[in-house]
Amino acid sequence: MRDVPLHVDTRQQRALLEALAATAIGHALELGELDRAIGDGDHGANLMRGFQAVGAHIDELSAMPLDEALRDVGKRLVLNVGGASGPLYGTFFMVLGAELGSKEPLTRRRLFAAFDAAVAGLKARGKSDVGAKTMLDVLAPVVAELNAEGSDLLRRLRERAHRAALATVPMRALRGRAAFLGERSIGHMDPGARSSQLLVDAVCATLLGDVSDTYAG
Ligand code: ADP
Ligand code: MG
Repeated sequence: MRDVPLHVDTRQQRALLEALAATAIGHALELGELDRAIGDGDHGANLMRGFQAVGAHIDELSAMPLDEALRDVGKRLVLNVGGASGPLYGTFFMVLGAELGSKEPLTRRRLFAAFDAAVAGLKARGKSDVGAKTMLDVLAPVVAELNAEGSDLLRRLRERAHRAALATVPMRALRGRAAFLGERSIGHMDPGARSSQLLVDAVCATLLGDVSDTYAG
């Protein structure tokens, strides 16, 4: 894959963070319903709390270097989301920021490598892997898609995330609260998979309306 320098300015950083927060908050009811079916119903409220904490600091977060902002978002999610998903999403953002670092200039290849590391960090934190009916069933294939050749990357990512979330419906949960239901977890979309899909979609939609050439080329 051709490597290209990337630059995320304050305005874009703000747009991305706002899109993440608006999506998590706007879908809180739906995520709560999904979690009520195979968990304890708090996934929407958990994520809403976490992303409200992000939204409350949007000016500071937008002005920080990208790596620092991502680490800060991760910490806020750990502190405010709670449940199983708080430390997991928190780890994802903290590793993403830590891997990007601030020493070398940002390039597409470095960004994609950081996403690989973030998924690996989430797997380690959750002692989990794909196939267990969790958020990893969306995040891992989406990050794999980042490294696949081809044009129209952002559209492919959105489609992959959508298909991956739907594919959790017939799965049996092996991790998290839903695993206690055994067979009865089958037939419902995993709430974490759905929230991951929504967050991926929000990022892609923002970039498509903005810097599509840099990312999708
Ligand atoms: P809790 O299960 O503590 O109530 P949430 O409802 O906020 O927390 O989050 C539930 C979601 O977290 C699940 O739908 C699943 O996607 C994800 N999850 C739970 N445990 C794990 C794990 N070990 N690894 C990866 N994801 C997990
Ligand atoms: Mg829950």
